[in-house]
Amino acid sequence: MLIKNIAHGWTGDKDGTRLTGAIRIEGGIITEIGDLVAKAGEEVLDASGCVVTPGMINTHHHLFQSALKGLAINQPLDPWLEQVPYTYWPRLDEESLRVSARIGLAELALSGVSTVCDHHYVFSDRYDYDPAEVLFEEAARFGIRFVLARGGMSRGRDFGAEVPAAPVESVPVFLQGIETAAKRWNDPSPDAMTRVACAPTTPNFNFAPETLPEIAQEARHMGVRLHAHLSENTAYAAQTQRAFGLRPVPWLAKMDWLGSDVWFAHLVDITADEITLLAETGTAMSHCPQANARLGSGIAPAPALHAAGGTVSMAVDGAGANEAADMGSALYTAFALHRAAHGVEAIDAGTLLHWATMGGAKALDLPAVGRIAPGMAADISLFDLSDARNFGLHDPALAPMVSGAAKARDVMVAGRFVLRNGRLPHLELGALAEDARRITERLARVSSRLPA
Ligand code: ZN
Repeated sequence: MLIKNIAHGWTGDKDGTRLTGAIRIEGGIITEIGDLVAKAGEEVLDASGCVVTPGMINTHHHLFQSALKGLAINQPLDPWLEQVPYTYWPRLDEESLRVSARIGLAELALSGVSTVCDHHYVFSDRYDYDPAEVLFEEAARFGIRFVLARGGMSRGRDFGAEVPAAPVESVPVFLQGIETAAKRWNDPSPDAMTRVACAPTTPNFNFAPETLPEIAQEARHMGVRLHAHLSENTAYAAQTQRAFGLRPVPWLAKMDWLGSDVWFAHLVDITADEITLLAETGTAMSHCPQANARLGSGIAPAPALHAAGGTVSMAVDGAGANEAADMGSALYTAFALHRAAHGVEAIDAGTLLHWATMGGAKALDLPAVGRIAPGMAADISLFDLSDARNFGLHDPALAPMVSGAAKARDVMVAGRFVLRNGRLPHLELGALAEDARRITERLARVSSRLPA
């Protein structure tokens, strides 16, 4: 295939390198870039009027929350946790999870995402289905690259007798769950379509500290990466300091939980010393600006970690804490918030795109994706500029990052279309809307029967 007439493109590189001309794809791999002419019989995709970028990479999500939007909307993190995931998890049947995953994956594909990492942390013997299997099946339907950060907890937060007890597993059962998933889906190759990571939900609350080094060691032995929520807000950092006498990042350093095989979601409340420690150890950040804003948690110092040589990736986080779980709004939120807080020098569109592409590939250790260059997998997004909000734009290449509503026309993964001409080939959005309405009503109904 030849993608031709590229006037507004980006390679994904750190310096905001632009791309024009054409891209040749053979066998799912980018083979040539430049002034190319179609060969006889070659399929041609016309990029006129589009912005071309590497497929975007979302490094932290909770797809099960896609049918839990708009709940507890005026609550900060802890009451939100109590009223949303802790309240609804027992009611999440297989169909609810399946439809929720489909909603989230559709939102992401329509905003140019080609790789998704889902941090799923509700595993329980109350379920008559395997959530990991449902998530991998739904991702495969879309044809999207999918990393399951297999979460879980051995200790639940106590939100009082009226809130259902959290789904807990013993450490051996948690590790067994990761091993079982890893055997089935963890492909270590640089362009893996499926991966598994070990992802204790929130280490300072959800596991006995003495078990954390063992969990890290077992995960490394299994050849899977490590992921968790960390330092999501000031109360979180203060709790870690109070309970363990250290701030979150040095505390986890002591637990063998830093390194180039580790990435954390949030890192909102971190000091300059913690930024240095993250950068020096190669520990990456999933930057979730929208959920942090919606929950009033603060603004993560992603530009400071980037400036220190650290790895920043972009994430939309669960739609239960952020009603716009798409990549375009996440990019614009980051663009706006960092500039509001620190001036226009704080962030530029090319760096944001780099975070959402090569930064994500580095955080997830998928070095064959995230960049448009010969030899890389053909994960490529074409953004449509036909909406009124893009009229009058002097530099159309900026649109996916600064318009707040990146709308993809085509998304491909290894040269195969996940989205084509604005349509998801395997999903009818009208039918999904109907399913979403039905399960949202059902979740609301069963929830109203929960103790007040
Ligand atoms: Zn999260």
